[in-house]
Parts: sequence; C-alpha cells; structure tokens
Amino acid sequence: MRKARVVKLDRGYPLVRCEDGPLVRCEHATALVKGDELRAVVGDFVEVDVPRGHDKGIIERILPRTRAFVRKDPAERALPQVLAANFDRVFVAQPLADVNVRRLERELVLAYETGAQVTVVLTKADLAEDERHVAEVRDRVRALAGPDVRTLVVSADDPSGVEEVRALIPEGSVAVLLGKSGVGKSSLVNMLVGADVQETTPVREDGKGRHTTVSREMVPVPGGGFVVDMPGVRGLGMWEADAGIGAAFSDVEKLAANCRFRDCRHADEPGCAVRAAVEAGELAPERFASYRVLKQETADLRERREEARRMRGEKASDRKKSAARSGRTRKGGSKRRRG
Ligand code: GDP
Ligand code: ZN
Repeated sequence: MRKARVVKLDRGYPLVRCEDGPLVRCEHATALVKGDELRAVVGDFVEVDVPRGHDKGIIERILPRTRAFVRKDPAERALPQVLAANFDRVFVAQPLADVNVRRLERELVLAYETGAQVTVVLTKADLAEDERHVAEVRDRVRALAGPDVRTLVVSADDPSGVEEVRALIPEGSVAVLLGKSGVGKSSLVNMLVGADVQETTPVREDGKGRHTTVSREMVPVPGGGFVVDMPGVRGLGMWEADAGIGAAFSDVEKLAANCRFRDCRHADEPGCAVRAAVEAGELAPERFASYRVLKQETADLRERREEARRMRGEKASDRKKSAARSGRTRKGGSKRRRG
C-alpha cells in the first residue's frame, strides 16, 4: 500500500501522485464505493495499491479530509458533492470592472464555510476606467469583505498583482480558485505558472463565459504550492449556511451578541448593537446589508424546506433515511463502477 495524493480528476480515472514520485491512474476499490458512494477528489490523500501486472492503481482508502469544498443542492434532490479537499486558501475571483456584489457575498460565505483562508482577487483591472476607478472598487469590496479578508488586484498586463497572489500560495500549500466562468481564473493560473497550462474561455458575444472543461487539477506554481481552478461550480447552494455566514461575518456576530434582544433582526429593535456600530462608523453599511440579505435568505430557505417537508408528511428524523435511499438509487445508476 502506498500513500498518494489525487492531483487530477476528469471524466476518467483519478490521477494520483505517489509519495515516492510516480503518477498513477487509479480506480476505486469496490469496497470503498459500496457503502456511501465515497469518491476521491482533487487534493485527497489516499492509499493506493498497485497490483503487479495491473495497468491501474486501486484506491483503497481516502484519508480524512481536513477541508472540503462541497456543492449542496438546496432542494436536497442530490447528496452534497465534494469538489476539492485539503486546500489552505480560497481565492474568490470577480472582475474588477463588473463586480457582482450578491454573488461575491455568497462566494465569501462558501469560502469561509470550508475553514480555509480567504482572499478576494479582482481581475481584469485593465478594463477599469482609470486608477481612481480601481481604488474605488477595491475599497468598496474591502468594506464588504470585512477586516479579515485581503483584496488583491490583478491584470493580464501587470505582473505585480500576480506576484502578490503567488506570495499567498507558499510551497506545500494548495489554493483553490472560485469564481464564475469567464472571470479570468484560467488566465490567472497561466500567469502564475508563466505558461499557458490552462485553456482560457473565449468570451461569447453576449459577454457570458462558457464551460470548456470539467477537469480539476492541482497545478504546480513555480516557487510556490499548487493552485486548483474550479470550473463548473454552478448554482452555489446557500443551504442553511449559518456556519459559513457566522465565519464570514464574525465581526458582525460579535456585535450582535450585545443586542438587547437575543433574536434581534437588527431592523428597528431598540438596543441594537449592530445598527449602533453602523451609525458610529465602525461597521461598513454595505457589509451590514450583505449580512442581513444572507441571513434572511437562509431563514427563507429553511422555512421553505420545512414547509415542503410538512407537505410530504415527513418528519425531520426521516431525513437521514431518505438521504440514504437516494444514495443507493444513484449508485445503482452510476456507470463509473469498478469491475
Ligand atoms: P475563467 O473562465 O474564469 O477561467 O476565465 P478565463 O481566464 O478563461 O478568461 C475569460 C476571458 O477573459 C478570456 O477571453 C481572457 O482572455 C479574458 N481575460 C482574462 N484576464 C484578463 C485581463 O486581465 N484583462 C482582460 N482585458 N481580459 C482578460
Ligand atoms: Zn441587533
């Protein structure tokens, strides 16, 4: 049995790098995927067996993940899907000249929810009108993202910003790039590597990005660790994301602990410490607005899910069973089984 790490995942078999060097294509051991549909993802540490005369290795065990990126289905039709594991930092990428605030605040919560370090990268800075425009957007995003998040600016025509990104991916670490297709993630990877290793997305006439690939890969960064571009992260599920919101807005939650009412909605209640902080200029109004939108959204989602459950006559305690059931059904239909 050899220790290895999954470095690439595409439609085929996971590619792993063994501790002692070689790259091996692998399949999953039957016993591994039988019970709960466990699949290795990029970044996973695994134990592989390479039987003599066999052209593929066999992943026998996936070691416990310190961190995982999970895509959740708000409707709970599918089981949560793990996208990457054991990374240290998440870069949330948004185009500087076209920041989508509602999307950014969701991406920040998802990034925080993983427990990794979080950094915002504003891309394509050359499309800004001038230096003032750059500074203005950067300050607005900083106010929104809060005191714990660094916000960097990069541009294809200015290597200095890229060096700041590189400095945050030290040797031995893994960084994940999160952001809508077309925001410039592949271009950033190519700048970090200094070569075109990642195929970029041609911008369509309607300005929207397009998916070119579904593969995920740990790309080595010269003088640093690894970077994983995450294409195809659609429908960022905000699904009872209270933990993520708590982490992304820890400063706000700390303030909220001092509100007079424990269930303060920070709307018009008397003795609201959060609103007081906004009025005193200690909490950025845009950050407060984001917090309220996200809290309201998860409350609404929860409400709707509970309503749907009631309609189905299902009790909360039945959820586990139904999840297990759907797991079995899905695996039965899976074409990627061994043997
Ligand atoms: P991804 O889908 O997030 O990986 O985005 P890509 O890296 O493929 O970039 C999408 C499009 O934006 C491509 O046409 C790139 O050439 C373009 N692009 C990327 N970075 C920059 C930049 O710094 N400035 C400008 N003007 N265009 C960029
Ligand atoms: Zn309050």
